[in-house]
Amino acid sequence: MVGINLMPDMPQSKYNHYIGRFAPSPSGPLHIGSLITALASFLDARHYNGQWLVRMEDIDPPREEPGAQQMILESLRTHGLTWDGDVLFQSQRLTHYDDILEQLQEATYRCSCARQRLLELRGVYDSHCQKHPVSDAHLMTSTRVALDKLNKNQMASAEHFEDIFQGAQQQNLRTQVGDFILRRKDGLVAYQLAVVVDDMEQGVTHIIRGSDLLSSTPRQQYLQLLLGSTAGALPTYGHIPVATNAIGQKLSKQHKAKGIDDSLAFENLCQALTFLKHSPPDDVCRHRHIDRLLAWAIEHWDRQRIPQAMSFIVD
Ligand code: GLU
Ligand code: ZN
Repeated sequence: MVGINLMPDMPQSKYNHYIGRFAPSPSGPLHIGSLITALASFLDARHYNGQWLVRMEDIDPPREEPGAQQMILESLRTHGLTWDGDVLFQSQRLTHYDDILEQLQEATYRCSCARQRLLELRGVYDSHCQKHPVSDAHLMTSTRVALDKLNKNQMASAEHFEDIFQGAQQQNLRTQVGDFILRRKDGLVAYQLAVVVDDMEQGVTHIIRGSDLLSSTPRQQYLQLLLGSTAGALPTYGHIPVATNAIGQKLSKQHKAKGIDDSLAFENLCQALTFLKHSPPDDVCRHRHIDRLLAWAIEHWDRQRIPQAMSFIVD
């Protein structure tokens, strides 16, 4: 696959071979949960002297809130989380994702299964439309990737990984997930495909994100391998606990999470650091200086301190 040079002006030698990223979906403003995720990936990248990219995953217009993109970027800036290079907007790459789907044609098939049938399968697709190909060329269909396209060793690499924070992970893709969707029936490219194409082309080496995406990782590794990555070149993953409300729902716009108040950036960062078990010492807190706080946190970032739990309650 041909890489794209996103950061032509970046003095590469300044960095170790570490490229991290924060990849928000603009479904609402940044809330304390997404700030914690952004901060963890930023600190891990900076602690290891890596680059840190921001990518806007704006490929699902029905779920987007007008103005959310600018609010998210503004909040990141106000909180001192400055990224390297330009923000990549997935909405500008739709024809590229089409090209990739075209390249994957041998490994994908059209699926016309009705919603009701899929519900009955409870999330694990049974390859029905691979066994009974859709013949009507005009029918609205989704596109699924077949899970029988990698050899045994590659499959093992996709299904097993060592998570920085959660330890050894494994999933059986065929029995726990099934052939999954790369393009939805409504024509929109699926998150799983776009995220993998961009992580590969941006050369992302470390993915620090919320544990709600832990179970997506084997699917993403499967796609990386299918697109020509070697097992040794797969990114390193670290899934941090996600923030939930008091009844265990992940903070999100859907559950009415409040956007963070940028005028309280210092306090927000202290709160986020406390959740990450990196409470700053009093003398750092007293000065209320964001850059100083972040410099302290970058220096003292310690992966061992991140709680292994899948979630923590923030309100
Ligand atoms: N855009 C995804 C989200 O906001 C995260 C993607 C990722 O970190 O892999 O949930
Ligand atoms: Zn089907």
